[in-house]
Amino acid sequence: MDCIFCRIAGGEIESNILYQDDQVIAFPDINPNAPVHILVVPLKHIESLVDLTASEEPLMGHMRAVANRLARDAGVSQKGYRLVVNCGPEGGQLVPHLHLHLLGGRKMGSLG
Ligand code: AMP
Ligand code: ZN
Repeated sequence: MDCIFCRIAGGEIESNILYQDDQVIAFPDINPNAPVHILVVPLKHIESLVDLTASEEPLMGHMRAVANRLARDAGVSQKGYRLVVNCGPEGGQLVPHLHLHLLGGRKMGSLG
C-alpha cells in the first residue's frame, strides 16, 4: 500500500523514531508547527478516526498515553501542550492514516 505512514512504520522510509511498541510508532513531524511537534501513529493502517471500530477504541487511549509520555520526555508536561487529531478533508487531514499530533513548546492560539 502506498501510504507514507505505513512505509515509515515498516521501516521503508527512515525517520527519527522517538518511541515504538507493538501498537504505535512516534516520530517528529517533518513540517513542525511548534518547537515540539511529534506524530503518534498506529502501526495498523486505519484511515481516520471515523474508521476506528469499537474493538480498536483502546488504541486511541494508548496513543494518548504515549503522547503524554512523549510530552513529559520533551519537557512540556507542566507548561502544557495540545493533542490534535484531524479527521477528513474539512478536519484538515492530509495523510489518510490515523495519527495524533503532539504540539508544545509555545503558547497555542485558539482553534480554527
Ligand atoms: P494531517 O494534516 O493531520 O494529516 O497531518 C499530516 C502531518 O504529517 C503533517 O503535519 C505533515 O507535516 C506530516 N508529514 C507528512 N509526511 C511526513 C513524513 N514523511 N515524516 C514526518 N511527518 C510527515
Ligand atoms: Zn497507512
